[in-house]
Amino acid sequence: MELNKKVEDFKAYLDRINTFNSAMSILSFDSSTIAPAGGIALRAKRMGFLQLEIFKMTTGEEIKGYLEALAPHLDELDKPTQAMYKKAKKKYDELTKIPPEKVQEYATLTEEAESVWAQARKDNDFAAFAPYLSRLIAFNKEFLILRADEMPEGGKPYDILLDDFEAGMTIEKYDDFFEKLKAVVVPLIKQIAASKKEIQTDFAKYHVDIPAQRKISDRLAEQIGFDISRGYIGEAAHPFCGGPDKTDVRITTRYDENDFLSSVYSILHECGHAIYEQNIADEIADTTLGTGTSMGIHESQSRFYENVIGRSLAYWQYLTPSLKEILPQEFANITPLMFFEAANKSQPSLIRVEADELTYGLHIVIRYEIEKMIFAGEVEVNDLPALWNKKYAEYLGITPPTDADGVLQDIHWSIGMFGYFPTYALGSAYAAQLLYYMNKEMDVDALIAKGEFATITKWLEEKIHKHGSVYTPNELMELNFGEQLNGEYYAKYLKDKFTALYELLC
Ligand code: ZN
Repeated sequence: MELNKKVEDFKAYLDRINTFNSAMSILSFDSSTIAPAGGIALRAKRMGFLQLEIFKMTTGEEIKGYLEALAPHLDELDKPTQAMYKKAKKKYDELTKIPPEKVQEYATLTEEAESVWAQARKDNDFAAFAPYLSRLIAFNKEFLILRADEMPEGGKPYDILLDDFEAGMTIEKYDDFFEKLKAVVVPLIKQIAASKKEIQTDFAKYHVDIPAQRKISDRLAEQIGFDISRGYIGEAAHPFCGGPDKTDVRITTRYDENDFLSSVYSILHECGHAIYEQNIADEIADTTLGTGTSMGIHESQSRFYENVIGRSLAYWQYLTPSLKEILPQEFANITPLMFFEAANKSQPSLIRVEADELTYGLHIVIRYEIEKMIFAGEVEVNDLPALWNKKYAEYLGITPPTDADGVLQDIHWSIGMFGYFPTYALGSAYAAQLLYYMNKEMDVDALIAKGEFATITKWLEEKIHKHGSVYTPNELMELNFGEQLNGEYYAKYLKDKFTALYELLC
């Protein structure tokens, strides 16, 4: 009885933290979309204040009391309550090592750095962003020293950041994963470069005005199951998914008049994230478990909708007639196969978010290797543009002509996200593994061709979405499939798809 009361109070306390976090998510969405540039200083102050309040609640005497009181009774708690406890405890352990004034200073810095980065990218001016990036890295290195006890045995400080974004992942595991990926992708890229296969893509660059693209985009979101009554679609230079909970999921996308496929895939990707959030079980929706369990699993959902569904021939068989309805003249003579091939044409390119499915992983390898060097103290901030360009030349055979197309292209570092990029590659790997198991129960291509996305989404909801953060990625995969992440499904998926597409000899 007394334990029940303690658990109830603990949950009520977490609910207060969760409510503050929800408010922060709305401010942060505004800040990345519609908030005016002139408001930076006061906005940064407001967000810094809220961040500090959240920090105090996550690390104060009250939460400490609950964590200590419940610790001896963990086995008596149900699985969701255990998960809430573990999440709160991990956060508490992480944050009690960092002084509160540092946290506020850091929050203010990231808010400013994001705006400076956006301007620097526009102006192609890495030097303007460099001092901010240096300070962001210095802060993180300082934090990692304070968290040194979280390092795995024989590990490095960067391991702690990797684990923050994907519980259980380490440099050792990523090194192994990326080496296996490189072993498949690098030879495939060479074979494709030597292949005689001609893929026509000119129609993908036809001018399609933005209102028409918006119409297509909104329709795609609705068709694959994004519930607009509990969501919002806005615009941002770097599309993302945000919002406080399953009843208010906000995504952004972007439109390019001369590249309508880019907006097609941007909306599918962000809808994948959004549908995950919208399908979390009601019982846990308004709790600290009411969000996706990890970056890797989250990205597996976006990649599933974007690539596994969106870049399949079956999807183009389904979509082509309705595209022709909206743009009858432009696409009069284009067949589903032509769309499919154009959407999968593989060619080394500069911009990660526009990379094809095959070369995408190499963009992640580059960021991973650079971050690893940053946190091992093996590279200075001023040398990052040159290092970036060197790696692009080495892996992809191309050199960015400007830093805006190179080291400045991603928002992540400007908001202090180090250790996040590698999870993007995990997403594709999980997605391929999910497809393998889904195909054992249903004919996935046949469903896609008929536009029966609800059946696919239902399967994902049962296996992944509804659980929110109740299970860790490893637990979730084992629960469903009796095995953890296995990169071999991804390697086979890429090899099969691109060998067939380019009619290569195996
Ligand atoms: Zn994503």
